Amino acid sequence: MKEIVLLGASGSIGIQTLQVIRTNKEEFKLSGFAVHTNITMALKILKEFPVEIICVYDKDAANKLRLELQKNNMKTAILDGMDGMLTLIREVGNFVVNALVGSIGVLPTIEALTVGKNVALANKESLVSAGEIVMDIAKKSTARLIPVDSEHSAIFQCLEADYQKELSKIIITASGGSLREYTTEQIKIVGVAEVLKHPNWNMGQKITVDCATMMNKGFEVIEAKWLFDIPYEKIDVVLHRQSRVHSMAEYVDGSVLAHLGVTDMRIPIQYALTYPQRKALEPSTKFDWATAFSLDFEPISYERYPILKLAREAGVAEGTYAAALNAANEVAVSAFLAERIHFNEIAPLLERVLDNHTSYKNYTLEQLLAVDRQTRILTEKLMRD
Ligand code: MG
Repeated sequence: MKEIVLLGASGSIGIQTLQVIRTNKEEFKLSGFAVHTNITMALKILKEFPVEIICVYDKDAANKLRLELQKNNMKTAILDGMDGMLTLIREVGNFVVNALVGSIGVLPTIEALTVGKNVALANKESLVSAGEIVMDIAKKSTARLIPVDSEHSAIFQCLEADYQKELSKIIITASGGSLREYTTEQIKIVGVAEVLKHPNWNMGQKITVDCATMMNKGFEVIEAKWLFDIPYEKIDVVLHRQSRVHSMAEYVDGSVLAHLGVTDMRIPIQYALTYPQRKALEPSTKFDWATAFSLDFEPISYERYPILKLAREAGVAEGTYAAALNAANEVAVSAFLAERIHFNEIAPLLERVLDNHTSYKNYTLEQLLAVDRQTRILTEKLMRD
């Protein structure tokens, strides 16, 4: 029995993870979960899955939910803050699904690996920000890191046992995001609502903006580097508008292994939970082979997507550049969603942050977390200047 601790239960991946648990009750049990502030959702989940302990990260929201539970005569213990989240990971369950958004997910990933619990990782920021530290702990741990990000789940399935010797590159596919058909003139006047209309995937707001800027793809390059221990020069990105091929592995003889599937995140979520087995999904997640469809690939333009280039460079530069870029991006995307800055201002802002960043070569986790905090302050300051 997998006893699951679900971090980020009220988000898009969290909700789909609950769907997978709900339809596999003989194999999976929800043992605890964490939300950021969404206590309406937390209460709803508790009514269906009456677990003994949860974490509400935001302390005010946690207090509100405690009162609500008292009224309803419900006995669940509510932890709060980062300490609460780490306690939850230590105390319950044997398998952690990390579906948090942002670098807030770094410490939970480290905690789970440290106490020997497998992690299904949907929080790519754990590796973007702290890839070196996280992979170091993963190597020493008995626990595994299993990717949930659809591209990395695909690559994970396309890598052969001896891949380090025989792989020539991995190719990460990119849909192009919500603005892929927009001209540069149109992008100049684009608003939040248009950016949030992803053509293929239904996801949370932060990642949907990251798809439009291509930061998401840049982060996925860095995530792949750490997760599979592949140098940057062997990681390519290709535009594939249909999102049917989720990523590919090319071998030295020219053979390319690809992973195909419909755009439904329940597939990689469930695979991470059942790995190495597979199970059917209801409602069906199969292609309709009676209907014609095609697969198109185009080279990606770094000119059109300067943020993809920036992310790649931050990865190659190593040190704390990627952590700084991620922190700056979290601030920039929130500001964009709050209509404080325009879409076109995100890239130059991030460039300025990296220009001002002093990278550490050998850094501790504490230094990394300090970089994250200080970069957020710097980004706010540069935004106001
Ligand atoms: Mg992805």
